[in-house]
Amino acid sequence: MSDILRTVTARDPGEKEFQQAVRGVFDSVKPVLDRHPEYRRNAILERLVEPERIITFRVPWMDDHGQARVNRGYQVEMNSAIGPYKGGLRFHASVNLSILKFLAFEQVFKNALTTLNLGAGQGGADFDPKGKSDDEVMRFCQSFAAELFRHIGPYTDVPEGDIGVGAREIGYLFGMYKRLRNEFTGVFTGKSLNWGGSLVRREAAGYGLVYFAAEMLAARSQSLSGKVCLVSGSGNVAQHTVEKLIEMGAKVVTLSDSSGCIIDEEGIDRGKLDFVKRLKNIRRARIGEYVDKYSQAVFVERDAALDHHPLWKVKADCAFPCATENEINGQDARSLAAGGVKLVAEGADMASTLEAAAVFQEADLLYAPGKAANAGGVAVSGLEMAQNSSRLNWSREEVDSRLKLIMKGIHRTCLEAAEEYGQPGSYLMGANIAGFLKVVNAMQDQGLV
Ligand code: NDP
Repeated sequence: MSDILRTVTARDPGEKEFQQAVRGVFDSVKPVLDRHPEYRRNAILERLVEPERIITFRVPWMDDHGQARVNRGYQVEMNSAIGPYKGGLRFHASVNLSILKFLAFEQVFKNALTTLNLGAGQGGADFDPKGKSDDEVMRFCQSFAAELFRHIGPYTDVPEGDIGVGAREIGYLFGMYKRLRNEFTGVFTGKSLNWGGSLVRREAAGYGLVYFAAEMLAARSQSLSGKVCLVSGSGNVAQHTVEKLIEMGAKVVTLSDSSGCIIDEEGIDRGKLDFVKRLKNIRRARIGEYVDKYSQAVFVERDAALDHHPLWKVKADCAFPCATENEINGQDARSLAAGGVKLVAEGADMASTLEAAAVFQEADLLYAPGKAANAGGVAVSGLEMAQNSSRLNWSREEVDSRLKLIMKGIHRTCLEAAEEYGQPGSYLMGANIAGFLKVVNAMQDQGLV
């Protein structure tokens, strides 16, 4: 395995995030390979780390001042062994091939865990919607879709939202796709409810994360009621994580964005959460404005020179990183353990560095990686695809109860796989192994393609 890792690093030396994701999975699946020598013979690992297809393209668009601009668009089609490529689109200044390949790679295992037939992909662009007008975002999305449309389709590749891509962007992308194809198919998920979206899709990643955490605690005869919780981010996943935590009786004391974090020791209640939703989803403003409205809270501005994030130093019982990759480093993980945190469940993909994950394991914390804990988002996307195919809309209760069942199932699957391969209680190992087995067995069945 180390020779494959060396090849991955040598072939694309700058792709640090992708190398990290590959290393994380390889660390877990060694015992599986020992039991299944045929995987080595069939170069399963070599094939898993090589995307089936990568598309890069120019995205020209006009800003509001009549100035032409150009961004770079990507679509990584990672693995279609168990279904059409499925994953998010990310619009953020930091987007590059390494980040999209890591997200697509994680998606392989996450999508397999949902039990739905979803392959894995990820796309996006180095375009930042922050500070852009609605018209600029529309022109960008239309230009992006004018190239993407030829590569995607309801049986080929079905993108959804991720950082910087919410309901507004999905609407503009779908509109252009429909115009160019002259067909109305369920090609994007996360669509608006009145033109093919699913109830609970918007809430699904956050709600699913909390259902998963509740299962982790229930396995130890505990519950979320009364637990003090740290949540980072303030976007889609963070907002719905907070919403469900409040409903389950927990007390959430933090939120953040890329400008810094707020700490509200009194707890973020429903009214304060509504304020945050308006602030972030409608006014698209900075989280610091929270303390202008709620003066008992404090705002800590982001300091890039620090070797840690102050949010993770707040004393709490549970932590839900919901902003972005590698937002918890080794130092942060030690702060969490020292501050009394007993459970970390990732809303963001690969929210913890490899060092942080090792710290959690040493400190015997309950730790769930994003590929298991946030799989509710893509799972309800799968349910949206099922509704689109049947041209039926399910009720909120039906989708939510299916989401709960899926999260319960993923939790059980992780524990069973971890137990079977000698690491009882390790959600990290269980998620990697269970997802891996489903995909590689499909790859074996389909021959050398
Ligand atoms: P949003 O764009 O809605 O929100 C992202 C949040 O994270 C914002 O508060 C943003 O702050 C913050 N953030 C982004 N990048 C950074 C950074 N480099 N440093 C600090 N803060 C940052 O995205 P989502 O909520 O949809 O996604 C959040 C995470 O969850 C991502 O890792 C995504 O891959 C993952 N995820 C999302 C799913 C979904 O269904 N949406 C499903 C599964 C996983 P700011 O506004 O300042 O940029």
